[in-house]
Amino acid sequence: MTTPITADLTAIRERWAAVRQRVIDAASIVGRDPADIDVLVATKTQPVEAVRAVIDAGARLIGENRVQELLTKTPGLADLAGSGAVNIHLIGTLQRNKINAVLAGGAVSCVQSIDTAVLAEALSRRCLASGRELNVMVQVNVSGESTKSGVTPDDAAQLARHVAALPGLQLHGFMTIGARSSDERVVRAGFARLRAVRDQVAGPGEPGTQTATALSMGMSSDLEWAIAEGATLVRVGSAIFGSRN
Ligand SMILES: *Cc1c(COP(=O)(O)O)cnc(C)c1O
Repeated sequence: MTTPITADLTAIRERWAAVRQRVIDAASIVGRDPADIDVLVATKTQPVEAVRAVIDAGARLIGENRVQELLTKTPGLADLAGSGAVNIHLIGTLQRNKINAVLAGGAVSCVQSIDTAVLAEALSRRCLASGRELNVMVQVNVSGESTKSGVTPDDAAQLARHVAALPGLQLHGFMTIGARSSDERVVRAGFARLRAVRDQVAGPGEPGTQTATALSMGMSSDLEWAIAEGATLVRVGSAIFGSRN
């Protein structure tokens, strides 16, 4: 027997509300304004109907991991992205040979996964050529886990300053995926490290770095810890859609 799709949509709506409440509760514990924390919905493997359902429930930020999936799904969201009702971010690896495809679609407003100067420079050139400006974030591997992408924390500030100086790109902040650990101290130390990088880069006020204030960190299992460490954007998938098989 198949589950009626309406049941899924109701569940998505309820889970979206529950996530918003988690953000509000986590912010209040540490005395932060929940309005300073955006929720990006990570929609990998979800069909367009599910994405539209969460947007309908109030989501304004969508994140896709794989370029191919992004390109397949964005036509079904073009009305919402085009009107500015929703912003779509790329939160997974971007290969240089996919840059044109991502820019051509025009749907992506931010690439969160910049982790090399070579990638940033290629993106900058294409943005310049097409006369557009793109928001980007520098992805940092705060845990040092080999399975994770991102520049090392030691090299992050230098890469960020380089990106900030490139034409066609607007450095918006920093992104990380937390340590794969249930130890609060370990996970929070990683998030604190990302915050320190942000402060190191945005603090002195060098040209192009003043806008680099965003901290994209925290997912379904650790968003409270990320908010305690200053996250301005949490990326949530399974808490809204259920666990992926
Ligand atoms: C899937 C994914 C998320 C969301 O993870 P959940 O644990 O499902 O909330 C966040 N960020 C990135 C980069 C992801 O790939």
